[in-house]
Amino acid sequence: MAKVIEHIKNAKSTLFSLEILPPSTGESIQKLFDNVAPLMEFKPKFIDVTYHREEYVFKKMPNGLLEQKSIRKRPGTVSICAALMHKFNVDTVPHIICGGFTKEETEYALIDLNFLGIDNVLALRGDSIKGQKSFEPTPGGHRFADELVSQIHDMNRGHYLSDELQNPTPTKFCIGVAGYPEKHFESPNLKTDLKYLKKKIENGADYIVTQMFFDNAKYFDYVEKCQAEGITVPIIPGLKPITTKSQIFNLPRNFFIDMPEDLIDAIEKCRTDDDVKNVGIEWAIHQSKELIANKVPCLHFYSMGKSTSIQHIASKLF
Ligand code: FAD
Repeated sequence: MAKVIEHIKNAKSTLFSLEILPPSTGESIQKLFDNVAPLMEFKPKFIDVTYHREEYVFKKMPNGLLEQKSIRKRPGTVSICAALMHKFNVDTVPHIICGGFTKEETEYALIDLNFLGIDNVLALRGDSIKGQKSFEPTPGGHRFADELVSQIHDMNRGHYLSDELQNPTPTKFCIGVAGYPEKHFESPNLKTDLKYLKKKIENGADYIVTQMFFDNAKYFDYVEKCQAEGITVPIIPGLKPITTKSQIFNLPRNFFIDMPEDLIDAIEKCRTDDDVKNVGIEWAIHQSKELIANKVPCLHFYSMGKSTSIQHIASKLF
């Protein structure tokens, strides 16, 4: 199995990769396999699997009072990675987040990945738990992704948390981090955001994957600004084909991104769900062709549990 950065270095043309979600609790893994299988024909070089932390739900008790419970709706990131690797012989990239983990728990999770032969991770801070106003670091955990990157990079040099270990085995993780062409929503401006992005690279990250964007000009401008700040690692563009009309409101609300006017106009004119899907496919193909012409390292598609549109797009590109 190979590292993402090796795939990029060895590539003769733009690569194809995917991000998928673990199944909801109670759903079978077969559904996920059925979703991914048709995409394997296009030879994705790696598949990212998201991590979903706990959230609070309220359960009504017999006495009428509400009980607050902490649950995880999509557990299984690491096992899904191992299962995909085993079934499709593809590299997988588990997302690993700061929120909800002490440094020790992070170390244990990394040891699990190392033993499974998974040498790629995407290191993220994670969002706040639903109901919390802003991100609250777990006591004994990391506050920002750059600290998590440092911990992983330390393990790659054989530095575990305990300094009493005799000759600990270095891990060999390739570390990806997130970047935001339209700025991370908490950052006061893009320049400040890039300062912290650079810190993630200086602390040991090998490449960047961007938040989804629908206007390539934003990506090209971002790459230029990153380079001006001295960020020279590969920047993988993240693409999301629109599949429903409601996404023109939901995606900007949830991901703090802009939608181009032409795309909104085209979607608003659609009469059926299939029309919307077709507009989403055509838009993503158009974006992809321009990105490929500009020799981006890889096109990374956010599947959000649905693969049909990506299948159509990939069939035109790879
Ligand atoms: P950071 O890099 O830590 O940045 C967070 C904010 O803090 C930014 O505004 C930054 O400018 C600022 N900042 C960074 N470092 C410092 C510092 N040292 N001092 C002061 N300010 C600082 N979330 C999940 O829960 N699970 C997932 O699987 C997941 N996958 C994702 C995949 C991609 C490709 C992307 C783009 C996002 C993903 N997210 C995921 C969402 C992500 O967790 C959130 O966007 C989160 O709010 C920020 O994470 P980050 O790693 O970018 O944080």
